[in-house]
Amino acid sequence: MNKTEYDKLIQRSIKAQKAWQDVPAPQRGELIKHLATTFKYYQQELAADVTQESKKIIAEATGEVQEAIDMCDFGVGLSRQLYGLTMSSERQDHRLQEMWHPLGVVGVISAFNFPVAVWAWNHVLAIICGNSVVWKPSPKTIGVAYKCKDIWDTACFRAIKDGYNIPKDLLIVLEGHTDVAEWMADDQHIKLLSATGSTEMGKALAPRVAARLGRGLYELGGNNAMIVSEHANIDLTVRAIVFSAVGTCGQRCTTLRRLIVNKKVYKPLLAKLKRAYNSLSVGSPSDPKNLVGPLISKAAFDKMQEVLGLCRMKAYAVHGGDPIWPMENTDDYYVNPAIVEVDNQCNLVKSETFAPILYLMKYDYLDEAIYLQNDVPQGLSSCIFTDNLQEAETFISAHGSDCGIVNVNVGTSGAEIGGAFGGEKDTGGGRESGSDAWKSYMRRSTITINYGSDLPLAQGINFDL
Ligand code: NAD
Repeated sequence: MNKTEYDKLIQRSIKAQKAWQDVPAPQRGELIKHLATTFKYYQQELAADVTQESKKIIAEATGEVQEAIDMCDFGVGLSRQLYGLTMSSERQDHRLQEMWHPLGVVGVISAFNFPVAVWAWNHVLAIICGNSVVWKPSPKTIGVAYKCKDIWDTACFRAIKDGYNIPKDLLIVLEGHTDVAEWMADDQHIKLLSATGSTEMGKALAPRVAARLGRGLYELGGNNAMIVSEHANIDLTVRAIVFSAVGTCGQRCTTLRRLIVNKKVYKPLLAKLKRAYNSLSVGSPSDPKNLVGPLISKAAFDKMQEVLGLCRMKAYAVHGGDPIWPMENTDDYYVNPAIVEVDNQCNLVKSETFAPILYLMKYDYLDEAIYLQNDVPQGLSSCIFTDNLQEAETFISAHGSDCGIVNVNVGTSGAEIGGAFGGEKDTGGGRESGSDAWKSYMRRSTITINYGSDLPLAQGINFDL
C-alpha cells in the first residue's frame, strides 16, 4: 500500500464514521451482539489460526477469542450506559451537564502476541462510541486480522438482514509495518491512535502524535513482578508463578519476569518451582497436551540465548533455558523456560526480554520488596502473594505498587476484561477494555443551560451594560 492508497482508505473511514455517529448507541450495541454470536460460531476456527500465527497454545488461543466475546458482551451493556454527569450550577435557573460524543476515526496498531483480543478491546469500544476503526495489525499475524475482518463483515451482514443500517467501511485493515504506523501517527484525521507493542514503538510514535496535538493511547512493554511473602500459601503461589511466567512462552506483556521472594521461603520455593518447571510439556502449540509452545521467531530465540549468556557471564545461577533441538527445517524455536537467580536488579533484569526468563531475588523487609518491584522503567502488572492483611493492603496502597495492575494472591497475567487494562511509566499510561476506558474513545462536551430570564455571570461578576 502506498500513501495515496492509504489516504483513500482514510477518506472511506471518515465517510463511514459520519453515518455511524448518528445511529443511536443502543442500536450500535445490536451490531456488537451479532459480533459476539459470530465470534462464538467461529471460535475454534479462529483460535486455530491464532495458534498457527502467534504460536500460543490452543487453550490460550481459545481463551483469547473468549476474551473478544466477553468484550462484546461488555460493549452491548455499555451501549446503554454512555453516561454524562449532571452538576449543580452556582447560578439560579441554570443547569450544568456533560454529553459524550463520538471522536471520528480511531486508529489501532496491535502486537503479534494478542492478535484478536487487543483489536477487540479497542474495536468494540470505538464502535459502541460511534467511531470507525482503521486497524494496522502486526505483520506477523496478518492472517488472523483478515479472519477477524471476515467475522466482522459477517456480523454486519446479519445486522443488516435484521433491518439495521450499517455503513460500509466501519472497519478497514491496513496492511504494513512502520511506514503505515507513521502515516497514522502523523494523520490529523485519526482522532485517537491506540498503539499496542514495544516501548520502542511507543517512543517512536508518541512524539509524532504529540506534534499534531493528537490523542494517543499507548499499551507498551511490561516488566512484571511478584512479591512472595513468608506468609504466602506456597502451593498456590507456585501454580500462579508457573502460569504467569511460562504462559504464551513468556511472550505476554503481563508475563511474570521478576520474583521477589522473602529470604525465609526462598529455598523451598525455588525447589518447588524447579520441580514444576521440569514437569512442563514443551512442544507443538496445537497439541492440547503441551503447556508451552515455541517462541515467535529466530530473533526472539537468539535474544533469549544472548541474555542467558550474559547472565552466565555475571555468574548468576541459570536453571533451564536451553534450546530444544532439533530445530532445523522449521520456523519454530522451542526452549525450556529459564529461572535465573540474581543478586541485584541489574540492567538485564530491568529490561523486558520477550521470552520465558524468570529472575529470582531475595528480600528481608516488605519496604525493600516494594522498592525492588517499582525500581524498573515499566509499570504494567504486579502482585503480592500473602495471607497477611497488612502486607496486602500496603502493597495496593499509594506507597505500594506503582503499576496499573495490582493483584493480591493472583498472578500478573490473565486479566479480566471488566477492569481498565494498562500501565504506567514506560508502559505508556493508556487504559483500554473495561471500567470507564470508553471515555478515551469519545469527546466530552460540558453544557450550561439557562432556563431563566436573567443572565447572571459565574463567580458573581457584574458586567451591566
Ligand atoms: P512491536 O513493537 O514490534 O510491534 C507492535 C506493532 O507496532 C506492530 O504492528 C508493528 O508493525 C508496529 N511497530 C513496531 N515497531 C515500530 C516502529 N518503530 N514504528 C512504528 N510502528 C512500529 O511489538 P511485538 O513484538 O509485536 O509485541 C511485543 C511487545 O508488545 C512487547 O513489548 C509487549 O510487552 C508489548 N505488548 C504490550 C501490551 C499491553 O497491553 N501493554 C499488549 C501486548 C503486547
